Amino acid sequence: KECTKRESNVAKIKVVVRKRPLNKKEVARKEDDVVSVSGDTYLTVHEPKLKVDLTAYVEKHEFCFDAVFSEHVTNDEVYRETVEPIIPTIFQSTKATCFAYGQTGSGKTYTMQPLPLRAAQDLVRMLCLPIYRNQRFKLWLSYFEIYGGKLFDLLSDRKKLCMRENGRQQVCIVGLQEFEVSDVQLVKEYIDRGNAARSTGSTGANEESSRSHAILQLAVKKHNEVKESRRNNDGDESMSGKVVGKISFIDLAGSERGADTTDNDRQTRIEGAEINKSLLALKECIRALDNDQIHIPFRGSKLTEVLRDSFVGNSRTVMISCISPNAGSCEHTLNTLRYADRVK
Ligand code: ADP
Ligand code: MG
Repeated sequence: KECTKRESNVAKIKVVVRKRPLNKKEVARKEDDVVSVSGDTYLTVHEPKLKVDLTAYVEKHEFCFDAVFSEHVTNDEVYRETVEPIIPTIFQSTKATCFAYGQTGSGKTYTMQPLPLRAAQDLVRMLCLPIYRNQRFKLWLSYFEIYGGKLFDLLSDRKKLCMRENGRQQVCIVGLQEFEVSDVQLVKEYIDRGNAARSTGSTGANEESSRSHAILQLAVKKHNEVKESRRNNDGDESMSGKVVGKISFIDLAGSERGADTTDNDRQTRIEGAEINKSLLALKECIRALDNDQIHIPFRGSKLTEVLRDSFVGNSRTVMISCISPNAGSCEHTLNTLRYADRVK
């Protein structure tokens, strides 16, 4: 199967896959590892199947992406291959997005958690470089969640937020708290605080957080000379200055949740439909970006609307598709890989 790897490390869209190792339970159940990674860009899924006469056979599915990370690849290597090349472009007005996609338990949060911290480290280091030091650049952090199509600020007691478009077609999340982060320790504290505030319903933390999209944004802003006294949260020009560039880290809802549309529980059904809609809309937006389409169908969902300004102009998108290796997850794994394949 032919694979055209994108030539540049700072390609506009990069689609990578990360396979997690078998976990203890899967090993205890003696489940097979059905995903084999070969080289840096290929992987094969060995799908166990039964014929009508119940004889077993294996169907092979081959895929190729911009990068494929095996279970031996560390978070640090994932960072270096995906986010690190984008960091300098943020000072050149790039709006970047980094998504983690995949079924619940496939490693999205494990992959996503350390990335903003590493990015903040590099951004703070760059702010101190002689070329940027005199430019009044500062780094700001915000962290919110989309749950059932509604926005909640994870850094101010889950305050409900609403979205507004200003006259310049910029999207603004009214009331979203932003914090200046001059050192990495502070970034870590905000991330921990936000994580603690993620949706945790009666059923337990991981279960509930799998139904929400968590969006952490790091923005480099240029400070106004005159401090505005009025709160002017009007698109990019918030009271803290003008956005130079930014990067958003999105830990998406579990992809299998989009199929919860026939569940007995009404609330679960509504949430499932919303997740399904947002993941489909996201796919359409990234495809439109990749084809250099003028019209990006961001109105398809709350998620894509919120990220609207990251889909226009100087944008960079990294999609990290997380997959589980066990035979029991084969169907979900194939769904994730097909989704990633469509985005590529
Ligand atoms: P998700 O966010 O997609 O639901 P998690 O990130 O919570 O999945 O991962 C599920 C479990 O698998 C966690 O216990 C996590 O620590 C573990 N895990 C995920 N990816 C890896 C990996 N690459 N290496 C080791 N453990 C991993
Ligand atoms: Mg998670």
